Amino acid sequence: MSSGTSDHQRRRDMVMTGIGDGVALFASAPETIRTHDSEHPYRQNTDFYYLTGFDEPQSVLILAPSHPEIRSCLFVRRKDKQQEIWNGQRLGLKEAKRLSGVDAAYPIEELDQRIDSFLETGDLLYYAFDADKSLNDQVVARLMRYRRSRARSGRGPRGVLDPGPLVHELRLRKSPADVVGMKRAVDVSAEGHLAAMRYARPGMREYEIEAIVEYVFTSRGAQSPAYPSIVASGANLTTIHYSTNRERVPNGSLVLVDAGAEVDYYCGDLTRTFPISGTFSPEQRAIYEIVLASNLKAIETCKPGKTFNADVNDAAARVLVDGLLHLGLLAGSAQEHLEKETHKRFTIHRIGHWLGMDTHDVGSYRVNGDWRPLEPGMVVTIEPGLYIPAEPDIDERFRGIAVRIEDDVLITPSGHDVLSARLAKSIPDVEEVIAQGRASGSALFA
Ligand code: MG
Ligand code: MG
Repeated sequence: MSSGTSDHQRRRDMVMTGIGDGVALFASAPETIRTHDSEHPYRQNTDFYYLTGFDEPQSVLILAPSHPEIRSCLFVRRKDKQQEIWNGQRLGLKEAKRLSGVDAAYPIEELDQRIDSFLETGDLLYYAFDADKSLNDQVVARLMRYRRSRARSGRGPRGVLDPGPLVHELRLRKSPADVVGMKRAVDVSAEGHLAAMRYARPGMREYEIEAIVEYVFTSRGAQSPAYPSIVASGANLTTIHYSTNRERVPNGSLVLVDAGAEVDYYCGDLTRTFPISGTFSPEQRAIYEIVLASNLKAIETCKPGKTFNADVNDAAARVLVDGLLHLGLLAGSAQEHLEKETHKRFTIHRIGHWLGMDTHDVGSYRVNGDWRPLEPGMVVTIEPGLYIPAEPDIDERFRGIAVRIEDDVLITPSGHDVLSARLAKSIPDVEEVIAQGRASGSALFA
């Protein structure tokens, strides 16, 4: 459940240094209804988990660096035999305190009576208002009361700040323990993709391939996909966030699989595109080679000091535009297309995003208005794509072809480490994995 008390303690200490005279309140994720009276599987708020390692709902973490005795405390659900028979074990106060290493743990029912003693130690309150409504309302009511009483009492925070930037700057730079977690999530994700290449067969529906990928995720220890898996073929290939996954894969189509496993709160995010026939057609190959060259160029550019959204993004875009010009899908000057972003008709999105305990991970992409340089410990996705619309002015041979190739890359002091390096990517390697899967003759569920 947790990567160890010392990690969480260290993270809380850093946040407390950041808030200085303030006080911070972090809430667990609300439980959410899926339909009628059944709930979505519970997933802890990532900041809360990052600071506690505690994954139960109805919990609150308070950090009060100016408190004389209790600088950190958790409010959690008490143990309850009846409830636990229905809904699973609760850790209870003692275990929650031990697991997270906070100074004190109290029953959540006592939050109301105890919260003032912590809030009043702070000049400013750090709170994200991302809890359920009742806690948000409780915080607002308290702030209103302090506003009325402060003239006489001199107590209570004078304002509220988002704790996000403090915590998210920490989360952006992965610790050695984070890197171990990331590697595991990316490994499991890669296994799922390899299985898709091996076991997808002509005539399958997209959801059958989705099931193969997610079967492997779960059987390797993932709690969940990190985001809705995309298995797109045929006319769906050019829909970036297609996740309906209901169609039969047309003969000769590419299959674009964008899927990642979430393992112990770390997310993988990988995309591979492969031919259901087992062999890329000349046109599919032409598009694929451009995207692959762009992916490799972007990865080569990843190193400390380079900016992700300028240096890396622009290097990759340049390769895509040159390729489109070469194929005659664009005409004119590369420079002009890059400046006016007229290539967006085919490239749609930028090069990637931060990756971590959230798929689109937290952390600012800019510092003082400028794109920020990469630093060791950051993890990014590198995911160039080309999406050729099936429109009348487009060379018929290329209509509807789409390719995205997405890797997960750790920035290291000397450059980068491609966490997904083991996942087949070149055309010969992808065709080889498919061929081996078909030669073995077996289906995954035979
Ligand atoms: Mg993706
Ligand atoms: Mg991505």
